[in-house]
Amino acid sequence: MFTRRATTRLARQLLDETFQRTQLPCNSTMASLISHGHFEEALQCFIDMPKPCARAHVQALNACSSLSNPWLGRQVHARLVHGLAPMNPFVLNALLGMYAKCGGIKAARQIFDEMPQRNVVSWNAMIAAYLKNSLPRESLNVFLEMKKYRVQPDAITLSSALTAYLRLGFVMEASDLFDGMTENERDGVSWTAMISGYVQNGVYGQALKLFVKMLGSSVRPDSFTLSSVVSACAGLACVEIGKAIHAQAMAIGFQSDLLVSSALLNMYAKCGEVGDSWVLFELMRVRNVVSWNAMITGFAQNGRDMDAIVLYEKMLQSHIKPDDITFVGVLSACGHERLLDEGLRYFHSISELHGMAPSPDHYACIINLLGHFGKLEQAMELIMSMPNKPNYIIWSTLLSICKINGNIELAEVAARHIFELNPQDSGPYIMLSNMYAACERWGDVASIRKLMKDRNVKKSPAYSSIEINNQVHTFLAEDRTHPQTQMIYRELRRLVEELREAGYVHDTNFVLQDVGEREKLESICYHSEKLALAFGLISKPHGIPIRIMKNIRVCGDCHLFIKLVSRVSNRSIILRDSNRFHHFSNGECSCRDAW
Ligand code: ZN
Ligand code: ZN
Repeated sequence: MFTRRATTRLARQLLDETFQRTQLPCNSTMASLISHGHFEEALQCFIDMPKPCARAHVQALNACSSLSNPWLGRQVHARLVHGLAPMNPFVLNALLGMYAKCGGIKAARQIFDEMPQRNVVSWNAMIAAYLKNSLPRESLNVFLEMKKYRVQPDAITLSSALTAYLRLGFVMEASDLFDGMTENERDGVSWTAMISGYVQNGVYGQALKLFVKMLGSSVRPDSFTLSSVVSACAGLACVEIGKAIHAQAMAIGFQSDLLVSSALLNMYAKCGEVGDSWVLFELMRVRNVVSWNAMITGFAQNGRDMDAIVLYEKMLQSHIKPDDITFVGVLSACGHERLLDEGLRYFHSISELHGMAPSPDHYACIINLLGHFGKLEQAMELIMSMPNKPNYIIWSTLLSICKINGNIELAEVAARHIFELNPQDSGPYIMLSNMYAACERWGDVASIRKLMKDRNVKKSPAYSSIEINNQVHTFLAEDRTHPQTQMIYRELRRLVEELREAGYVHDTNFVLQDVGEREKLESICYHSEKLALAFGLISKPHGIPIRIMKNIRVCGDCHLFIKLVSRVSNRSIILRDSNRFHHFSNGECSCRDAW
């Protein structure tokens, strides 16, 4: 990079028509200097030219782009404006490219708009310029304008447009565009962009399908593709497919790839196979903060909280600097183990020892921990001491600990804040309503119901999914759409009978209180996780663990039900809900009934 002084000198010379011309360098010398990365020398060569032609100006502009020096670029532009070389399409494209690469987005647009003739190169430069400046919407507008002018896009255009759609979350549009691309137009960048776009938008099944298609194409996946597709498996809790991809990644030489290994480690942990994560972690020759975090969080989510804390201490000994995510893992481990003193010590160390500001997630962990010790006052003091306005997570945590402690007054305070921040979330309304019902304040229950009706709050549909033979089956509550519905319901009724004989009674506290007892029982018997469990039991051979994923927290009745089923059926059942993992076996759960 130029020093400021050298830049000024060069710029002055660029504008000075009377500078000494002692050498006779030529365009090919400039081209050769640029191709070897000697951009400053190329510019010096340009300055020394007696009468640089249009091509020399193009090369000078390219050198300025490579140096990311818009100031020098503008001086070359000024020469052109003064008519020192003709403004042909190549010169205009080089100018556009220079401004686009150096962040001069307005100047780039002006040149683009004034171009008498635009070929594909100019359109591509403009689309890429907006993308580079984090303006995906503007980028797409240029792409659509290009289509309007019937300019045929090339592979570069399509790849940029695809990225622009995905940055805005327009997955359907991106998917349509990708489907319309020919085999030749799809390069590694567009395949990976589309797959990771699906993953980022939670469309995991589509990501897996597309990956299979990619394997059938001539393009090979790279570490980004593999880590994205492994994350899709983690999202779906599909450990069987994850294992197959793991084997494939090893076969094509990604054994020691940090990105792929970290994604795999995370996938195994998210599928409840934290032992496999640990094997991978130990095999890793290089570990970064991402791999340490995945392992610490994996332990904490799978009920191996002491292992999480021990590993964190090891991480510090290895001189790896912890980040936000590390502390979420450590603090939630302290929360599960009810380690109040340790939790507070780690929480204070975030700012005092590591010089970081605790995040709302860290505050939430501590508020939750304080709540489990009945220290609501201290929790409230902590909330009031937060440097920024407490967010939704903080108030939701306060609400849930108020429920544990039966403190309605503080729960109302928390709920008021939540209703303001996210009036459409049904969870807090139901929680508060259930608290009123527990102390028979039916008038307040009715007003909450009315509030929900007035604000048109819908209960978010709860669903559970289970993977059988590489296929994901999803169930809603009281779902009767599955082809094997009859068998599933029969199995569920059989289980309920068997458990009833052993003394199990449905806990209907988890249903909104103003429905009749019979309806309550109906709705709780067929919760989505119970349907998925019944389907798992009739589909998976004995001895193979049953893995279920649920999009919201498991209810108390289902938790009890699954615990008992794990005993009577002698199966190990792993349930991942929105909050944590539950490993059920022999009538016990790894969460020790705290979730
Ligand atoms: Zn349930
Ligand atoms: Zn549990």
